[in-house]
Amino acid sequence: MVKVEQENIHSLVEELTFEQKVERSLKLIKEAHDIYGDNLVVANSLGKDSSVVWDLAKKIDKEIKGFIVTTRYQPQETLEFMEEETERFPELIIFENKEPIPDRLYEKDPDLCCELLKVKPTRRALNELDANCWVTGLRCTEGRTRTEFKEIEERDQGLIKLNPILIWKEREVWQYLALNNVHVNPLYEKGYRSLGCAPCTEISTSPNERAGRWVGTSKCGGECGIHTRPLKKNYVSRAKM
Ligand code: SF4
Repeated sequence: MVKVEQENIHSLVEELTFEQKVERSLKLIKEAHDIYGDNLVVANSLGKDSSVVWDLAKKIDKEIKGFIVTTRYQPQETLEFMEEETERFPELIIFENKEPIPDRLYEKDPDLCCELLKVKPTRRALNELDANCWVTGLRCTEGRTRTEFKEIEERDQGLIKLNPILIWKEREVWQYLALNNVHVNPLYEKGYRSLGCAPCTEISTSPNERAGRWVGTSKCGGECGIHTRPLKKNYVSRAKM
């Protein structure tokens, strides 16, 4: 397990400076990489937080592998950005569930749609890449569903989840991206703050960063499931596809 002590993350959000947060994130990734080596993989959603984590990971070791889970409903801008990123970083592997699903399932049962199109390929990515540790861009100030996570979690036995920028604020994410000249998804230029599939993502002016996700459903501002559903090897999903 990684050695960084797990303090009260909510107080650290306010107490640590930007520079201290960057150092802490790098330390978390380095310690995990020292332990897990090639069995550490970085999840890249093509959103701003993932772009930070990917850049931080590359500062630790340029060889670190990553994966992108894409869906048939990604906005065109995200698809183009995905192409650019995978050209820049061939070690980013794309996973997608292309199996047939009911038409407009995202309207009728968005949880099942996310389970099939996001959670299931994430599970496959972690299994195929033989991950014992996966690194995410989750942040505790993003919204109501993200307040209870830890920097180091073992939600699934034998699979560590590292959330190295958990205590970063949205402003610090943009600060890092600007200072490090990191390429970002062009959808941010249009005013989006949290990115997902086209039918389930809107531009929102709410203070809640994730308020534009799944608007008009019980899932509004919520989660696709990759941070909440089991991802363990051999897990049997309710989705049979
Ligand atoms: S975000 Fe919407 S379209 Fe994408 S997988 Fe989830 S429910 Fe389906």
